[in-house]
Amino acid sequence: MGQAILDLNDSNPAPARVRVLLPLPLKGVLDYRLPPGETVPPRGTIVQVPLSGRSAVGVVWDDDNQSGDKQLPLEKLKPVEKILPLPLMADDLRKFIDWVAAYTLSSAGAVLRMALSSPAALAEVPVRTHYIKGDVPEGLRITTARQSVLDCAGGTPSTGPELAERAGVSAVVVSGLAKTGALQTIEISVDRPFSLPDVSLEGPALSGEQQVASQAIRDCVWEGGFKPFLLDGITGSGKTEVYFEGLIEALKEDGTQVLVLVPEIALTSQWLTRFETRFGTRPVVWHSDIGIAARRRAWRAVASGQARVVVGARSALFLPFKKLAFITVDEEHDPSFKQEEGVLYHARDMAIVRAKLAGCPIVLASATPSLETLVNADSGKYQKLVLRERFGAAVLPAMKAVDLRADAPSAGQWLAPPLVAAMKDTIANGEQVMLFLNRRGYAPLTLCRTCGHRIECPSCSTWLVEHRFRKELQCHQCGFVRPSPEMCPECESKDSLVACGPGVERLFEEVSSEFGDARIAVMTSDTMTNPRQTAAMVEQIASGLLDIVIGTQIVTKGYHFPNLTLVGVIDADLGLRGGDLRAGERTYQQLVQVAGRAGRADKPGTVYLQTYEPEHPVVQALLSGDGETFMKAEQEARARYQMPPFGQLTSLILSGADMAAVVDQGRLLATSAPGTADIAFMGPAPAPLSRVRGLHRVRLLVHSKKRGGLQPVVRNWVQNTRQIKGVRIKIDIDPYSFL
Ligand code: ADP
Ligand code: ZN
Ligand code: ZN
Repeated sequence: MGQAILDLNDSNPAPARVRVLLPLPLKGVLDYRLPPGETVPPRGTIVQVPLSGRSAVGVVWDDDNQSGDKQLPLEKLKPVEKILPLPLMADDLRKFIDWVAAYTLSSAGAVLRMALSSPAALAEVPVRTHYIKGDVPEGLRITTARQSVLDCAGGTPSTGPELAERAGVSAVVVSGLAKTGALQTIEISVDRPFSLPDVSLEGPALSGEQQVASQAIRDCVWEGGFKPFLLDGITGSGKTEVYFEGLIEALKEDGTQVLVLVPEIALTSQWLTRFETRFGTRPVVWHSDIGIAARRRAWRAVASGQARVVVGARSALFLPFKKLAFITVDEEHDPSFKQEEGVLYHARDMAIVRAKLAGCPIVLASATPSLETLVNADSGKYQKLVLRERFGAAVLPAMKAVDLRADAPSAGQWLAPPLVAAMKDTIANGEQVMLFLNRRGYAPLTLCRTCGHRIECPSCSTWLVEHRFRKELQCHQCGFVRPSPEMCPECESKDSLVACGPGVERLFEEVSSEFGDARIAVMTSDTMTNPRQTAAMVEQIASGLLDIVIGTQIVTKGYHFPNLTLVGVIDADLGLRGGDLRAGERTYQQLVQVAGRAGRADKPGTVYLQTYEPEHPVVQALLSGDGETFMKAEQEARARYQMPPFGQLTSLILSGADMAAVVDQGRLLATSAPGTADIAFMGPAPAPLSRVRGLHRVRLLVHSKKRGGLQPVVRNWVQNTRQIKGVRIKIDIDPYSFL
């Protein structure tokens, strides 16, 4: 860092050219000029520059990747407006941004936008006036009120309202005293520094296998340098305690920083409380809705190096760390690490790159590692650390299948008799039940008995989902809502609409009538709309105030409920329908995670899987507990068809308001697809979601038999194809969604 970006001849006082990357989806860097004699700021300097009549903030960048685009002569360039008083963006982050851009075929500017957070984070931090005791001028009239303020104003600065309240006087007294000099004013940034986690606090005594795993991690953190680990431990085996040890080792060195990536949904009060119990303070939290002020405080504290531990969702990967020394990706198999909007990247994969560029160890932790990660561990690219036992007396729950063909629930109901019986026993024992159904709302489809009409979203090719608690129908694609109709919107028959299929609300209705005395709650993104609500509900369950919890996938993540001993999976086959590449793997992972909520303390747990296909390999793997064999079979199948992670996929999603134009664009791309032996081009085909928010959608898929080298082919192909106006082409490298 610190080298000039230009080979400026010392004897040449001419104005210098500066290349600035702006957080916008532009093609490359833009050139600006510095006034003569001014030294060129080092790469990574954050600057403010003019851009089409306004000001924009950007970063001084390399010009290595620029392909001799026509350079404007210096005198035509606009001058840099100012250099912002912010720390330099570290080299490894700038390299990371270029790397992610190249890999995802995005512009570096679009990636930089994620790293620069919000404009508010870069603006000056507001200050608040504080007071301490000053010199009382001679002859100042000291009233009782004034005396009281002076008595209360100590050495530590307080704000006016604080001081007034403590002294029991009105704010005018404080400001009046300040004017006389009897109180001294100090302007203090509203962003208080984060307190430092205390790594000297004593942690739990680790079990033998926990010790082995944590020692391996600590050694590498101590040595430094890039080193990826897979921490493969069953649910409840203490993976968190193990990676905490790596974090402790990293923080022993001055100025180092640690990043823990978790699925957004796992950023719960439970995790944070656990961290606080272990280290005496909360970590810096980063996710999409922490609010502007919190964002600014966190971003700046990370940039200055003051924040030492960040726990965040995928976007935390782009925070401006000064000196990253350790990364953990917890629940690394979680599908939410794939960002599906804007820059399409997979945070787990990019975290590996981030660690490599930062030169630090990284732990990928999961009870159900993704196939991608397992293959990397098998080939020796990642070191595998295994935890086979639950901590303490806890054992993995017993798994039972309920064959719905033999034990069908009554018509219009969803709980089979064996599950109902088990629920009764559990509640009679004073223990808790969790029912898992990954469907929000009351029913996924509303149908007219008279004319057969199905109520669809006006702008998407989806059915509206009934939310009976709110008396609304909602589109889960675009968010469109309408009041639940009294009659069929098509044939206008009354009392003719029927709800088809179950959602959690409908399950709630059934459970309520079956278990009249039980205390029941529904946990979904509809009922847990903010962290406080979530924390309250989690607390209620943990402290035994509820008997039955009904939830969507929101309940699968990381919660620890000691008295929960029965888990019922209402529809184990649900995730297998639709059948994309990873349907089996994902269903397996999800159900292991749900099952992992049962019997986490000293009482053993049981899991009932309701299924129409007890012989399905996923269900069999769950029943036998032999996930390894199942994943091996998945791996073989993927290898056989050269699917990821052996081969590579890229999908193109075309969308636009004019269906004909979208289809034409698809045809143009198909005809201009380059012929190669190893790469197949498929499509265009209407997307399974053929319309979203009024836009028609068509997909193409590129399949390469090998990994690597696909991006340049795709980029040239798209660039060399005529683009039809009004059609958007979204390129998704390593797609996870095929909708
Ligand atoms: P995982 O992340 O593997 O599911 P956790 O780290 O959440 O497992 O651990 C499960 C439970 O066991 C937690 O309540 C945790 O505090 C406890 N635990 C794990 N290891 C230990 C240990 N060595 N000593 C005491 N408690 C432990
Ligand atoms: Zn819609
Ligand atoms: Zn009708």
